[in-house]
Amino acid sequence: MPSTLSTILDELRATGSKLVAVSKTHPPEELMPLYLEGQRDFGENRIQEMATKRELMPKDIRWHAIGHLQTNKVKFIAPFVHLIHSVDSLKLLQEIDRQAEKAGRVIPCLLQMHIAKEETKFGLDREELFSLLRAPEFADMKHVEIRGLMGMATLTEDRELIRSEFRMMSVLLEELQSGFFSGKESFCELSMGMSSDYKIALEEGSTLVRIGSLLFGPRQN
Ligand SMILES: *Cc1c(COP(=O)(O)O)cnc(C)c1O
Repeated sequence: MPSTLSTILDELRATGSKLVAVSKTHPPEELMPLYLEGQRDFGENRIQEMATKRELMPKDIRWHAIGHLQTNKVKFIAPFVHLIHSVDSLKLLQEIDRQAEKAGRVIPCLLQMHIAKEETKFGLDREELFSLLRAPEFADMKHVEIRGLMGMATLTEDRELIRSEFRMMSVLLEELQSGFFSGKESFCELSMGMSSDYKIALEEGSTLVRIGSLLFGPRQN
């Protein structure tokens, strides 16, 4: 659906934010039309699927890990992953740091915040965030770079609730930019907004929207 892509890109251009095309469950032949239109950022939530697609697809694609990540899977993507959006524990970050060192690189990461009402969603609360940032182990990490925050809003028809959750993220990003990450210009990304709520996310300062079904149609699983 190339026409959908260009419509979304026009909307993003106005705000300077970037599109991560969420291609999970869709085979490479469905990704290629977007690639040929110039799309380079693709998001996957399953590690095996990302690794397989990376093998089969052009090498200049930037692969984003957006889903809950198990520590024992990090090694499979460490050599190439462009950005990990879903860091939700110190333990996971330590493993990313270890695997990045082995791969001889620094892996850019976002800290995932739990902003939704659903308990099932992953992410850190405020207290967990600050305890991660204050951990001595975190201070020692040399192979991860925290670039910003990620969050998923509540799945609801209540637009104002979604807006307030995204706004909390923007406020937190600013707080960290002038506090813990002060002087670190690379700490600037807000990954928020999916097919159903990305317009609200853009209005609230999103710099990276993760859009799947709007681009690729409904998923099978
Ligand atoms: C699947 C997924 C998306 C995209 O969802 P759509 O509603 O299809 O746009 C975005 N972010 C995460 C973390 C996802 O798992």
